[in-house]
Amino acid sequence: MTLDAVIFDWGGTLTPWHTVDPLACWLAVTSDERQAAALHEAEAAVWALCRDEHRSATLDHVLDAAALTLTAAQRRAYFDWWDAHSFTDPAVEPLFQGLNERGLKIGILSNTIWPRDEHERIFARDLVHSYIDGAVYSSEIEWTKPDPRAFRAAMDAVGAQDPSRAVFVGDRLFDDIFGAKRAGMRAVHVPHSEIPAWQHTGVVGEPDAVIDGLLDLLPVIDAWR
Ligand SMILES: [Mg+2]
Repeated sequence: MTLDAVIFDWGGTLTPWHTVDPLACWLAVTSDERQAAALHEAEAAVWALCRDEHRSATLDHVLDAAALTLTAAQRRAYFDWWDAHSFTDPAVEPLFQGLNERGLKIGILSNTIWPRDEHERIFARDLVHSYIDGAVYSSEIEWTKPDPRAFRAAMDAVGAQDPSRAVFVGDRLFDDIFGAKRAGMRAVHVPHSEIPAWQHTGVVGEPDAVIDGLLDLLPVIDAWR
């Protein structure tokens, strides 16, 4: 078969999974515990909307729902807090090089409330940004994975036409694997993340392959080609 593109989830796939206390990032932003709790609650609500209705949201939606605004310094503190939990797996650069050598487009499709520039800053920091042909961050579109429209947007971003010639790689059996399969793509599961129980939906997709580490993707792709 011919393959044109490989599209990746971000958190827990290109970054090693970290279990974090979701309230802690807000306590890095404000020392007011009531404000932090309101932000945490507002964030949980947008992720529930993502889980149940596959509707996207932004950081500004979270702030609006909590009726708070952040100073530039607080905003920076929020993203700085995440820096320790967002580093790119060292296997990503050689993996992307390998996909490049095979003539495959490389895409990103992330369910995220963050703006594009913060994701691009992280990819640039970790020296992999130049490999990425196209990226869709759900904060920029109406839908989140597993909605087929999110996958279609990611295909468009890398210039891929035929979903049967595209591979999706992700750590979540619902958002990533079920979503990619329903969109007509091949799906590869990276099963190392501890997905919080409240994010489970009971719906799981059946991956076409399961890999132990990211570099194990290359022989899977070679076998399919
Ligand atoms: Mg993920």
